[in-house]
Amino acid sequence: MEESVDRGEHHNLVIVSNRLPIVLSKSRKQKWTVNLGSGGLVTALAPVLRDRGGTWVGWPGTAEGDTQEVDTLLQKHNKSIGYKLKPVHLTNQEIENYYKGFSNETIWPLFHDLIDHCKFKPEYWEAYQEVNKKFAAAVKETINDDDFIWIHDYHLISLISYLRKMGVKNKIGFFLHIPFPPTDIYTRLPWREEVLDSLLEYDLIGFQTPRDRRNFIISVRTLVDDPAITGKGQVISIKRKSKVLRAGVFPISIDANEFANLAKTPEVRDKTWYLHEHFPDQKLLLGVDRLDYTKGIPERLRAYRHAMRTYPELHGKLTFVQVVVPSRRDIYKYDALKMEIERLVSEINGEFSAAGWVPIHYMYRSLSRSELSSYYSAAEIAIVTPLKDGMNLVAKEYCATNIEEQGVLILSEFAGTAAQMKTGAILVNPHDTVACAQAIFKAVHMSAEERKTRMRKLRRNIRRYDIFWWVESFLESAFSTHLGSFPVVADYNPLADSG
Ligand code: UDP
Repeated sequence: MEESVDRGEHHNLVIVSNRLPIVLSKSRKQKWTVNLGSGGLVTALAPVLRDRGGTWVGWPGTAEGDTQEVDTLLQKHNKSIGYKLKPVHLTNQEIENYYKGFSNETIWPLFHDLIDHCKFKPEYWEAYQEVNKKFAAAVKETINDDDFIWIHDYHLISLISYLRKMGVKNKIGFFLHIPFPPTDIYTRLPWREEVLDSLLEYDLIGFQTPRDRRNFIISVRTLVDDPAITGKGQVISIKRKSKVLRAGVFPISIDANEFANLAKTPEVRDKTWYLHEHFPDQKLLLGVDRLDYTKGIPERLRAYRHAMRTYPELHGKLTFVQVVVPSRRDIYKYDALKMEIERLVSEINGEFSAAGWVPIHYMYRSLSRSELSSYYSAAEIAIVTPLKDGMNLVAKEYCATNIEEQGVLILSEFAGTAAQMKTGAILVNPHDTVACAQAIFKAVHMSAEERKTRMRKLRRNIRRYDIFWWVESFLESAFSTHLGSFPVVADYNPLADSG
């Protein structure tokens, strides 16, 4: 039977995410500037929003009190970007309890399996509900009957419940950018039924990997009831009472061509050359992470120390460049993590530094795009070893930039990326210090031929399943009449793993 491919082209799109895709800043003279965000999600969604017409709803990231100025500024900005930005303002108390609290001190650690980092405070949950309700009111104000609403991420899981209570009947999709935890971890959440009930109200729910979807289904079976599941593969159908929810696997990605092209620009080539000159006769091992306890930075530093202790022939031949991008510093755990990282860096440099060689080159700041690209280009090895990660775009960006196809990727088996990239990367358990040290040694000594074969495989996958594929397959899944037989991602078999 011929299937129709409908991506809902005739429906306006309403994107809802915690943050609007902009960076607002205020000068010392109190003058505001707006810059459009540069991440993959904005790159992929902006053209769709412009083509179909649409709105992006989210918090502008500003503190209480700047409301009116920000509204005026964004209204002016709407014309130039080609779609509407609808701000949802948060009070300082809401930022504290909904954003830093329930989102980042409850759901974030719980969904990354880090139960010891979780705070289960009733006032956090209440604020989460209040803010989700506030977002629902803002969405309701902006939509027409036929719009497709696409809600993003763990800050806004309950949003659908308020929209439905307010009588909104539109088709609504949800994408979870972070992992979904195994049931024995998920069940610690005091509001576990409420959160699942909300997730089950969506028309389409997207996960990063088959493992996340399977975890979700097992939790539904354990805590709610046993739904009827039909279909296999990328999109399946979950029928509960009279409601049908589609659940799909959509590994998020990057604009692969953009990274490959950036690597070819004179600016990046010059910067890459400078890095090679600065680290003569050395291989570079690169780590790039936001400051976060899920990223496994201390564990990685210990593995590097173990490699230096075990393989003295690497001294003076391998430099570890670790970039840590500041993030969530006003949460206590993050500050403590920064101190731990800096203590380890200093201990390792103290133990091994020699004339002309410092083992770890540590940067605690955000890099410009061209700087980041030149580090990706210059590094012979990238080490991406999160304890758990929804996807991990750094791994994909490193490979996309690697136009000479000579780089090696060391990758945690607990990164969502591993589902797609396990055959090209050297997979490691980030908790296994010895195995990670051995992986570093193996990467340093890998033959040029093996590096090329592996990197080719990785790059082919990333080019084929890029961010544009991700947007299209999500929209296609929301509107098409069939299940399962979407293009699936090579190197893993969702058919065998459909929950
Ligand atoms: N990144 C950045 N500035 C930097 C270093 C990295 O903007 O100085 C970007 C990087 O290009 C990547 C993102 O931060 O797109 C990190 O995404 P990832 O999925 O690896 O982790 P997340 O921070 O979302 O948990």
